[in-house]
Amino acid sequence: MRGSARFFFRRPLAIRTDIPLISFTFDDFPRSALQTGGAMLKHYALGGTYYASLGLMGRRAPTGTMFIPEDLNALLEQGHELGCHTFGHCHAWDTKPDAFENSIIENQQALRKLCPGVSFRTFSYPIGVPRARTKQRAARHFSCCRGGGQTFNAGTADLNYLAAYFLEKSRDDPQTVKNLIDQNRRARGWLIFATHDISGDPTPWGCSPHFFENILQYAVGSGARILPVAQALEVLRTPSFVVSSS
Ligand SMILES: [Zn+2]
Repeated sequence: MRGSARFFFRRPLAIRTDIPLISFTFDDFPRSALQTGGAMLKHYALGGTYYASLGLMGRRAPTGTMFIPEDLNALLEQGHELGCHTFGHCHAWDTKPDAFENSIIENQQALRKLCPGVSFRTFSYPIGVPRARTKQRAARHFSCCRGGGQTFNAGTADLNYLAAYFLEKSRDDPQTVKNLIDQNRRARGWLIFATHDISGDPTPWGCSPHFFENILQYAVGSGARILPVAQALEVLRTPSFVVSSS
């Protein structure tokens, strides 16, 4: 049963933060996510997380024209995070857990060749919901793994299956996304956005620069702390300093 993966091999983390958190993430990733989306983030001195399948590098995929090797160093120099999305863009449900883990390892090895000294710290599951055993395998390699679910993380989150909100699903309805930013602020949660290409003529899995800018501006104005996934997790893991009045 697909829904069951949510309940097994959990790595719970209590989301406790005075300042709500937002992360912007891009899967696969299309060049436009860095060239257009990344430039917009940089304009606000912010970083995003790019979940790369190195097996897609230089290719055309349903989500657009993929990144090329030079993009990886540019991305890191600009302060973004490079995350893992398996080498072969393996379907999280249809792929056997062994093969799925092998593709994680293959992606890490490919990265070591392209960017010596760089390693992936976080992960996003391609296409579907992961199997329970796949969650268990992925957990060995990353500080956290992101799925979908169209919501934010509050209360107790599962680091092996963090919730994310795919922006393209509301690309004709920015108000819904703004309401979610407000809900996350009130809950003092961690809202992770995800999408693919950012282009004037987006694929069904991407959104326009105008929409992305609109959401980014609103997120910045909401007072949330906007950080790449690995850094947001560090913030959540750092106990806040309590000043004693006595
Ligand atoms: Zn993907």
